[in-house]
Amino acid sequence: MSNELPLTPSFEKRGKLLIIGSIAFDDIETPFGKVRHTLGGSATYISLSASFFAKPSVVAVVGSDFHLHHRKIFESKKIDLSGLKKTKGKTFTWGGKYGFDVNNRTTIFTRLNVFKNFKPKLTSLHKNCPYVFLGNIHPSLQLEVLKQIKKPKLAGLDTMNFWIESEKKALTEALKLVDIFVINESEARQLAKEHNLLKAARQILSLMNLSVNRIPPVLIIKQGEHGLLLFQERRILNLPGYLLEDVLDPTGAGDCFAGGLMGYLTKTNNVSWQNLKKACVFGSVVASFCVEKMGTKRLQDLRPRDIDQRFKEFKKLTHF
Ligand code: AMP
Repeated sequence: MSNELPLTPSFEKRGKLLIIGSIAFDDIETPFGKVRHTLGGSATYISLSASFFAKPSVVAVVGSDFHLHHRKIFESKKIDLSGLKKTKGKTFTWGGKYGFDVNNRTTIFTRLNVFKNFKPKLTSLHKNCPYVFLGNIHPSLQLEVLKQIKKPKLAGLDTMNFWIESEKKALTEALKLVDIFVINESEARQLAKEHNLLKAARQILSLMNLSVNRIPPVLIIKQGEHGLLLFQERRILNLPGYLLEDVLDPTGAGDCFAGGLMGYLTKTNNVSWQNLKKACVFGSVVASFCVEKMGTKRLQDLRPRDIDQRFKEFKKLTHF
């Protein structure tokens, strides 16, 4: 893949990617480790992953317990935090526990805290970003952001069972405005009320942005360690997961996939089917690194050449 190099273009040349989502403190327990109050949240994982390809800008809210050393984690990856609002109160916190089947997790608690009163207000820099990804947060906040954005070239969205159960109407409204929707397998079945994934996919695609001047909607159904399904019109790609010996903590894998995917699309400024497939591989590669350590640790010490090398291995693994 010599045409892939350099993987990370010089910072000035990178495209802008706007990311909205949660910044959180997570308590995570897996059979292999336990961490408390570690930096997490959808916007955190997405922006750290996307920073290998693009110039991410984060719009989110944190509380007074978000300190300089947390900010430095973002700044070390040149992530723009001009859209980060710091308010009185506690940052969003989430606790999750995994058993030996790491595809299944139990949410122990979700405390919205400062998120309860958050009203995202975009600056003109943010409104004009050509690429936008709405990480997992309340769908009405996703909708509010989508309505403020001028004319994105590509808008993507992620959600979770929590919002499908409680905020389906707002979520359906937000889906009408996005081109790429990333969701996991059980959530796709839950949203479409359909067990068959192919039928569920067709149904979900029909809910998405169908305007004539947009690309045909893209749906990605994540299947945990088993990989993913990519759908656009009648086209389908079934991509396996990258096989790892040690999975320490799957938290954030879905967000890292989205960050890698959107980062690569932003970098290449190309939304053809061929490039979408490649972007899915880069997303899967970044996600495969994330799960090797607890929380965001592995993303913090990851180097572009590690991504490039695993991309090549992934290619060998899936080629026949
Ligand atoms: P993932 O494993 O990709 O689903 O991402 C896990 C991250 O999502 C954790 O860092 C959590 O802080 C964050 N998260 C969990 N529940 C929510 C929620 N309801 N809204 C926003 N972010 C959440």
